[in-house]
Amino acid sequence: MQIPKIIIAIDGYSSTGKSTLAKMVAREFSLLYLDSGALYRGVTLFAQENGLIDADSNIDVPALTEAMKTLDLHFGFTEEGSRTFIGERCIEKEIRGMKVSSQVSPISAVAEVRAFVDERLHEFGKSGGIVMDGRDIGSTVFPQAEIKIFLTASEEVRAQRRYDEMVMKGGNPDMEAVRKNLRERDYIDSHREVSPLRRAADAFVLDNSGMTMGEELAWVRGLIQGKLGLLD
Ligand code: C5P
Repeated sequence: MQIPKIIIAIDGYSSTGKSTLAKMVAREFSLLYLDSGALYRGVTLFAQENGLIDADSNIDVPALTEAMKTLDLHFGFTEEGSRTFIGERCIEKEIRGMKVSSQVSPISAVAEVRAFVDERLHEFGKSGGIVMDGRDIGSTVFPQAEIKIFLTASEEVRAQRRYDEMVMKGGNPDMEAVRKNLRERDYIDSHREVSPLRRAADAFVLDNSGMTMGEELAWVRGLIQGKLGLLD
């Protein structure tokens, strides 16, 4: 289906399948998919590698703010989709591991980090034609987005999905650790002062616990058609 160059914002809790749905929607409607969480993960890796966050997640905010001035964090677009880079180095694998996952929420709660990431996200918004997933895309980053979706799923389903994803990528995760990480991230993301995770008032909620990918896509297609007044 041909649609105008709109912005679709997909927000929600950790491991609700936001990126899977966002990628599918982007492919279906020929839009560009952008993963805002990847940039927060990239800043986290950068902070860890440069000793700007300690094992207890104490962050040297002034030093991190200064260091971000020269941080070249960006997406590179390949045949297989978008990849996250620091300079020439592809950091896609490192940012998906438990080490980054365990400290990404404290890093994302820093106002200066959010300003750094938002500046990059806004660049993409200028030309439209994007699907972006995250925590605050519909509420803060693109409040003007034409379509806003808030995804939820039961904790059990989400933990299983994250566990399976890590196994598929060759990891050997511990289910309890995975569940604990999801809970901690959701708590910090929902309770931080700056731009907390919350549903935008005009977002449509989708609980995808028992849905197939095909059903989810059909739901989104219906939503787009309804909102934009399009016919098949
Ligand atoms: O989406 P993903 O799980 O990769 O995001 C990693 C983390 O980045 C989240 O747990 C959250 O702390 C942060 N994040 C955010 N705002 C966004 C996207 C991600 O705070 N828009």
